[in-house]
Amino acid sequence: MSLEKYKDRNIGNQNYKLIGHEAFPQTNGEKFERVMKRMVKGELFVGLWVTVRTMFEALFKGQMHTTKYPFEKLPISPRYRAIHEMLRLLESGHYRCIGCGLCEQICISDCIRMDTRYDENQRKEVSEYTINFGRCIFCGYCAEVCPELAIVHGPRYETSSEQRASFSLFEDMLTPIDALKHQKEYPGFGAVSPNADENIKKTPLAY
Ligand code: SF4
Ligand code: SF4
Repeated sequence: MSLEKYKDRNIGNQNYKLIGHEAFPQTNGEKFERVMKRMVKGELFVGLWVTVRTMFEALFKGQMHTTKYPFEKLPISPRYRAIHEMLRLLESGHYRCIGCGLCEQICISDCIRMDTRYDENQRKEVSEYTINFGRCIFCGYCAEVCPELAIVHGPRYETSSEQRASFSLFEDMLTPIDALKHQKEYPGFGAVSPNADENIKKTPLAY
């Protein structure tokens, strides 16, 4: 192969585009002029216009594209498995858990700890119940296996805390007694039937 064509280093013969170099500004006035020329370009005003237009649409036309978290929250799926809730019986307000221990047995992360004892009426009561949310993988097995639908996954997904133990106690997960009428029922075995309100009546049984 001939190397002749590589020996021609005369770039003047080729079709290069030469960039003109600005002379370096000498005086302060020239320097200021160059800074202003480089700063204030048409694109700057296009960007500002887009920002102002989007702000106007969001504030006055109701076209807000962001969510004001934590004041607003996006809806989550009803099947979402977040922090557990322990439900109460609607009739008596007593917790539904019967202390069978199935949830503790099936938990694949081994993060449920519970204990039971007999009260003064020789009825079984749950004396301790904790879930270590540092280990829980929110698989849902505990809620699936519960025969009383006592433990369910609620919608509370904000699980940050300075101490893990602060949100894993039975009392923390139990429906507050004054919020019983807002307790959400979940369909499934052991759930309250759709016409439960008609069937509920005062019972002499002490739950
Ligand atoms: S959701 Fe799964 S890992 Fe979490 S407590 Fe229930 S069974 Fe255990
Ligand atoms: S499976 Fe349900 S009823 Fe049984 S101990 Fe767990 S929460 Fe209580």
